[in-house]
Amino acid sequence: MHEKCGVVGISLSDRGAARPLYYSLYALQHRGQEAAGIVTHDGFQQHDHVGTGMVGDVFDQEDLDQLNGPNGIGHVRYPTQGGLGACCAQPFSVSFKSGSLGLSHNGNLVNTDEVRQELADLGHAFTSNGDTEVIAHDLARNLLEEDLVRAVKSTMSRIHGSYSLTIMHDETVLGVRDPQGNRPLCIGELEDGYVIASESAAIDTLDGELIRDVKPGELVVLKPDGSGYDTYQLVERENTAHCFFEHVYFARPDSVINDELVYEVRRNLGEALWNESGVETDVVMPVPDSGRSFASGYAEAAAEDGADVEFAEGLMKNRYVGRTFIMPTQDERERAVRLKLNPIKSTIEGRSVTLIDDSIVRGTTSTQLIELLRDAGAEEVHVRIGAPPIVAPCYLGIDMATREELIASDRSVEDIRDHVGADSLSYLSIGAITEALGKDDTDLCLGCVTGKYPYDIEGEERDRDVTRPTIGSPASADD
Ligand code: AMP
Repeated sequence: MHEKCGVVGISLSDRGAARPLYYSLYALQHRGQEAAGIVTHDGFQQHDHVGTGMVGDVFDQEDLDQLNGPNGIGHVRYPTQGGLGACCAQPFSVSFKSGSLGLSHNGNLVNTDEVRQELADLGHAFTSNGDTEVIAHDLARNLLEEDLVRAVKSTMSRIHGSYSLTIMHDETVLGVRDPQGNRPLCIGELEDGYVIASESAAIDTLDGELIRDVKPGELVVLKPDGSGYDTYQLVERENTAHCFFEHVYFARPDSVINDELVYEVRRNLGEALWNESGVETDVVMPVPDSGRSFASGYAEAAAEDGADVEFAEGLMKNRYVGRTFIMPTQDERERAVRLKLNPIKSTIEGRSVTLIDDSIVRGTTSTQLIELLRDAGAEEVHVRIGAPPIVAPCYLGIDMATREELIASDRSVEDIRDHVGADSLSYLSIGAITEALGKDDTDLCLGCVTGKYPYDIEGEERDRDVTRPTIGSPASADD
């Protein structure tokens, strides 16, 4: 079970949280199109509405009207292959002896089975095989004996993997980020309250101000009356493991992560791509929308170097088609690319083209687009990719593909070039990524491009000294 999602939590002084939560989920829709949900608390009881589909389909006026209370959390869930049982939609909510709990999770635990097994042995009954329910049960159990902050800390010492969580315990909204900060989470101020969200674009949508990122290992507790928040650095680690792919593909370009606007990072990566493997062609063309900021940085750097290249849109996107990954079979994925993108012949015919995208995963998009460009009359098609080859799966919350499906897992760049049918193909180096993000590789998760992970994952290599907690023995816990 992979969970690749967007989360939000809001506390307001004097108005219902449902609508602001709804707008923030719209702002985070790119992080998950499979399901959406909101849980609020009105001071007496919890209200929830969760459903499958896009945010606009899941909620109507009546649903929002019954989500009473100034405090709440929300979630959008990423599409996974094979669909989703309603049991796995979030926020996950549960009532127990010391109150109610709601949980929204972005990320993926890698020791779920161990923790679930231990809780099951203690009599906890699970309704899903997801990791979020495991976190909820563990926290509920700790809350029977400890205060909120200690209970969160105890749960953090038992779970291993990536997690950015928004949690609601009765009417108190919390945000927690895993000790290595793999997935983003930030905090913002509104005129009449506070918000915790996966990305700052959600705060912008509410006319709020980004305060800062939630620190890795930090807990943020919003005051239920919207007057402020408290923070607790529950776990401290020497190194972080921020996911570089958030900056390359997943996050919105208008979001700020680690104090950097994602758009600028992508433009810098585009510039690096030109410096590392620029090729002078008649036209530079992005794969919309993911390649756009890379292509603009690339074309600008080319122009500064005196290259005679034109930056042009040659592929038009049908914006009503969802992400290709929703399609479960290869045949459907191929058709989806054609449904999604149509060439503009006049910018392509008789010209040499550099096609720029952020990444190649299975190779479906590049193969289809190169064929499309050739059919539209391109004389040469050179492909430049704003990330290194993706050679290994992501276990930490981005649904990429299995190792077998990844085109670069067992092929050289030259083999891939041949496979996708390009005249030339170059990827960006890992060094360019670390430079553009201003981080050492010891502070990033580069698992999908190195095959070595900053978490202890069964059957995979590690890139640092990290071990999963021994469940059942709190003294030897993770942190
Ligand atoms: P593929 O066609 O399998 O090679 O996928 C590459 C295309 O999918 C690129 O255009 C990327 O922008 C996009 N992409 C990369 N990673 C993901 C992901 N995790 N989910 C959905 N799309 C992705």
